[in-house]
Amino acid sequence: MNQPALIGLPSCADAADPGSLPVETARHRILDHIQPISESEALALRSALGRVLADDARAPIDVPAQTNSAMDGYALRGADLDGRGAAELRLVGEAFAGRPYPEAVAAGECVRIMTGAPMPRNCDTVVMQEKAQARASRVLMAAGQRRGQNVRQAGEDLSRGEVALPAGRRLTAADLGLLASMGQAEVRVRRRPRVAFFSTGDELCSVGDVLADGQIYDSNRYSLFGMLQGLGVEARDLGVVPDDRAALRTALLEASRDCDMVLTSGGVSVGEADHVKRVLCELGSMAFWKIAMKPGRPLAFGQLGPAWFFGLPGNPVAVMVTFYQFVQPALRRLMGESTLTRIGFRAQCLEHIAKRPGRTEFLRGTLQAGDGSSSSGPQVRRAGSQGSGILKSMSLANCFIVLPPDCDGVAAGDDVLVQPFEGLF
Ligand code: AMP
Ligand code: MG
Repeated sequence: MNQPALIGLPSCADAADPGSLPVETARHRILDHIQPISESEALALRSALGRVLADDARAPIDVPAQTNSAMDGYALRGADLDGRGAAELRLVGEAFAGRPYPEAVAAGECVRIMTGAPMPRNCDTVVMQEKAQARASRVLMAAGQRRGQNVRQAGEDLSRGEVALPAGRRLTAADLGLLASMGQAEVRVRRRPRVAFFSTGDELCSVGDVLADGQIYDSNRYSLFGMLQGLGVEARDLGVVPDDRAALRTALLEASRDCDMVLTSGGVSVGEADHVKRVLCELGSMAFWKIAMKPGRPLAFGQLGPAWFFGLPGNPVAVMVTFYQFVQPALRRLMGESTLTRIGFRAQCLEHIAKRPGRTEFLRGTLQAGDGSSSSGPQVRRAGSQGSGILKSMSLANCFIVLPPDCDGVAAGDDVLVQPFEGLF
């Protein structure tokens, strides 16, 4: 398992408060330290959906393997077309997909051919059936045909030896099809990270239990489960841990024993019941815990033995925002993904948003396509109340509106940066 040291990072042992880190700095610090899991496994193609390729996948054959027809029609020798691109030829046989015409085709001859059938020997051109008239064994090709038309060349999709998919690629449905098209039944992918997570808080009641006075249901374990599941990691739910140092110690030791990453929610702020940072420093090391963002300012990142550690905030929306902004890229790096790009683009904000400079703010938004006129691109508005405990607006939203630290408010009509949820897994 990977155990790089957090060299050069401020820690809880430092006298100086490391202060709040800008979002981008925090993300870079996290990603600079995390190395991909080195172990890999061979999986049957179907089981590899969403997994990350460990090695380049090279095509062992040309795809398509043979030059074939792209149309239903007639295969002929391009040299037989006259100056107007027409011809009258003798029909000598048929070629079907999977049932090639076995002979060579001579000058003045043509073959009835179906889409996907291998091109008969000597033929290089297909005339679609709508442009041909067959009368007994003669076929008249309309003028305007071009040599080489309607033919798919062998290897035009993939040529033998070509890298079809590079190592570090997260496999999509199209990728599975591409690998199957080159005959590959198995692929080598990186091992899935094991991620343990639990919630902290004396007030938490697990679903299925009856709420006592002053309790709330633990929702974070469910949103975390969903986000981890979407990413394809092996998620281990360790339940709820009370606001008690000894209990937290035991839970963190247990969680980190056999995992690549440990996530907790709650107890990471500066309240009297917030023990996560102290225990993290006792058992491992902490790189930072404050980020200049809203929501999600308290977020502890560090190491616990062999595992990376994220102490996420307790507020349900802050958990999701910090997961998507920091934990998800960290897990994608751990899984060996080579590109961690997140889709972001600008959209016209349809309403005024008040903001003070200083922090990056992540607002829940609803993004819509423009009204279809050439002047109108995508448009966005807030999805509802933006309190960091309001999960309903997170559920309604389909994007984050990202306001950078220097932004001091948005006027209706201004462009803002949006990150669509589509593609967040
Ligand atoms: P904390 O950071 O522990 O002070 O938590 C901040 C807020 O988030 C408090 O109002 C907590 O009750 C709430 N909270 C913490 N953990 C959870 C959880 N697992 N599910 C729902 N709300 C939570
Ligand atoms: Mg708490």
